[in-house]
Amino acid sequence: TMPINCEPLKELIRTVPDFPKPGILFYDITTLLKDKNGFAQLIDAFAQYYIGKEVDLVLGIEARGFIFGPALAYRLNAGFVPVRKPKKLPAPVARVNYDLEYGTDALEIHLDAIKPGQRVIVVDDLLATGGTMQATVQLVRQLGGEIAGLGFAIELDFLKGRSKLQEYDVFSLLHYD
Ligand code: AMP
Repeated sequence: TMPINCEPLKELIRTVPDFPKPGILFYDITTLLKDKNGFAQLIDAFAQYYIGKEVDLVLGIEARGFIFGPALAYRLNAGFVPVRKPKKLPAPVARVNYDLEYGTDALEIHLDAIKPGQRVIVVDDLLATGGTMQATVQLVRQLGGEIAGLGFAIELDFLKGRSKLQEYDVFSLLHYD
């Protein structure tokens, strides 16, 4: 099958200057998600890349990884696992703290969400500095999961987030410089 050309999807992504704070150019995927052809192409492009890689679980990072992670999991015949902000998950969790530009944040996963040796991909909407994904990778490793890939709709190449994730297969549909 022909590889999907994702470049046209850029026209469906809205950019909002100075959100959530001055100097940040926010990439808003809601305008892509509401477009039925755009949404289908987004999932199809991910599926094309990951089909055949024996993915057991798709992990989505709160919040925008929850939007397309499950659709991809369905296509891959995989399960879906949410990685959440603190105190949202009801059963025992593993927790990781990580540094932000100002302060720290944390993510949690249910301790029984991954069985040792299960093959996992982690998805999020956007790769910026890579801190969020690096933290999630720590959770997966703590639970004994095998990381089959890290997938993003958008990668901001100039922030070099991928350099924090060098051991892994990092795949992004769209790149911005
Ligand atoms: P980072 O940990 O720096 O790679 O930041 C990635 C997380 O922050 C992702 O969950 C993104 O949703 C969000 N994010 C960071 N920068 C942007 C941006 N310019 N536009 C939209 N979301 C962003």
